[in-house]
Amino acid sequence: MSYILSEETQDIIEAVHEFCENEVKERAKEYDRTGEWPAELYEMGKEMQLHLMEVPEEQGGLGLDRLSTAAILEEMAKADAGFALTYGVSGMPLIPILKFGTKEQIEMVCSKMVEGSFGAFALTEPQAGSDAAAGKTTARKEGDEYILNGRKTFITNGGYAGIYVVTAMTDKSKGLKGMSAFIVEAGTPGFSSGNHEDKMGIRGSNTCDLVFEDCRIPAKNLLGKEGEGFKVAMQTLDVSRTYVGCMALGIAQRALEEAVAYAKERHQFKLLKNQPFI
Ligand SMILES: Cc1cc2nc3c(=O)[nH]c(=O)nc-3n(C[C@H](O)[C@H](O)[C@H](O)COP(=O)(O)OP(=O)(O)OC[C@H]3O[C@@H](n4cnc5c(N)ncnc54)[C@H](O)[C@@H]3O)c2cc1C
Repeated sequence: MSYILSEETQDIIEAVHEFCENEVKERAKEYDRTGEWPAELYEMGKEMQLHLMEVPEEQGGLGLDRLSTAAILEEMAKADAGFALTYGVSGMPLIPILKFGTKEQIEMVCSKMVEGSFGAFALTEPQAGSDAAAGKTTARKEGDEYILNGRKTFITNGGYAGIYVVTAMTDKSKGLKGMSAFIVEAGTPGFSSGNHEDKMGIRGSNTCDLVFEDCRIPAKNLLGKEGEGFKVAMQTLDVSRTYVGCMALGIAQRALEEAVAYAKERHQFKLLKNQPFI
């Protein structure tokens, strides 16, 4: 694939490869066993600006295009899928914010990320997965604020992000057209993270519930227009699903490499080295 990637991207992939070989691969065994958030490792990744892949250059990020981001996530997933997912999802709120956000929103979110915040994207609810329209989280406008109430589930980086894009129903009677999207900052009163999922795999990635209890956010944090939330969500998933596919490719490549290496070192039936089986 190198022929379609810029020299800069290939250099980043090489640096990520080195980092993963030296720092991620060995630690992954331990944090995958314990399910603990490898804070120190993620701080090291931030020093490499891995959480800024899609933050535009003029906002202090790497400003990479989607192909480059996908190729880097594929490389990370060869070392550990949880590590890749954390950085992949961290950039997820930027997908809609760069498209639907105001200049002020873009500047606020990018500066938070440059300061070290991870991002998260919250659509799923206990009763609303594939059927996103069944979401029960509400956002009621009062003066120059929206008041959020409800619960999101399975949210990647949910317990550790600084910036969230959250969907909520502003008018339930309109179905999908009554959904809106909002930018919510960690630490906003009434917003907390709940149950942490003790997953079977990709355990270096944090997955948890988000709880909104009369959480007041400024009305200017509405992303796009009221009623555009489903469009915002689907256009975000159009991109992020391709990233998930690239991470799956990285996992498959590593599995193949490990299998080939093992097949080459394992001898059976007292065959002489290099002697063909048949
Ligand atoms: C590790 C992990 C991380 C995640 N991170 C995030 C995140 O960051 N943000 C977020 O918002 N969500 C996240 N999710 C949630 C994820 O998007 C949902 O799990 C997904 O939308 C599916 O929803 P569900 O789990 O409720 O399954 P369901 O929607 O209940 O689906 C169960 C099964 O039924 C099938 N099915 C559903 N509808 C139909 C239909 N109409 N016809 C036929 N078959 C159907 C599905 O294909 C699936 O096989 C994450 C999930 C996981 C496991």
